[in-house]
Amino acid sequence: MTACNRRRNGARPTNAPATLEAVDLSWGPPGAANVLENVSFALPAGQILGVLGPNGAGKSTLLRLLYRYLRPRAGRALIDGTDIWSISAREAARLSAVVVQEQPATFSLTVREVVELGRAPFRSLFAAGGERSAALVESSIKRLNLGMLAHRCVGTLSGGERQRVMFARALVQEPRVLILDEPTNHLDIRYRLELLGLVRELGLTVVCSLHDLDAAIEHADKVLLLSKGSVAAFGEPESALSSRLVSSVYFVSANLEELSGTGRRRFSFQLN
Ligand code: ADP
Ligand code: MG
Repeated sequence: MTACNRRRNGARPTNAPATLEAVDLSWGPPGAANVLENVSFALPAGQILGVLGPNGAGKSTLLRLLYRYLRPRAGRALIDGTDIWSISAREAARLSAVVVQEQPATFSLTVREVVELGRAPFRSLFAAGGERSAALVESSIKRLNLGMLAHRCVGTLSGGERQRVMFARALVQEPRVLILDEPTNHLDIRYRLELLGLVRELGLTVVCSLHDLDAAIEHADKVLLLSKGSVAAFGEPESALSSRLVSSVYFVSANLEELSGTGRRRFSFQLN
């Protein structure tokens, strides 16, 4: 059973997922060479893309290009065929939501206030949030198990709790594409598994950078392996991630092994 099939049996999305396409995306800091070069992939609606690669490979840069934080030096990012730079920032914010590591600006706000911020792109100048927004905020707080923390200041939370708040804020946006930069970094095992399970249940188009290759094999429909800013592999995890390729990209000795009797596969690593 693929991750995609498993998801169909889970919760139904209210917002239809979108296709996501990168066409020859390149970016570099002003006056310097590209750190991301000619990255292309096409992700069907409702699939999860795991973005992999060593530190500095360009994962966060690619994600920033996909959520319109960086403007590409060349190439295009398309959501449902629309170039995200051909629409307004507000329109783009309604299409995709993002969970990233650093959010210091929100530290003095309460959990509920931060989650409510996710509704900002939907508010008109003349109307307040409305009942629907309030209901979305409550269900999202509940879904991420944040009820007990709703009145706490975000600055007083642990890294993992904060991560769940950012995830709740992304969900109230009802995004058609969800972009997650190492979302499980601060989470303990239980919440890590819950969060990856939740991502799968949403039925959204998801781009998720991950350090854990085994989590990508288990949860992603497609993987994109980056090496020094270029695509080393793109495709279904089992076929894209060979031991040989992973060994050469991560400079280790990697071995993809079958766990006896489970049909599941896991990487083991050794230093060369
Ligand atoms: P990853 O997320 O895979 O660890 P990043 O996308 O953060 O990698 O970074 C890729 C490369 O681009 C790194 O060498 C990093 O130093 C460089 N880089 C990223 N953003 C900038 C920037 N704003 N200015 C200069 N270099 C940058
Ligand atoms: Mg990064």
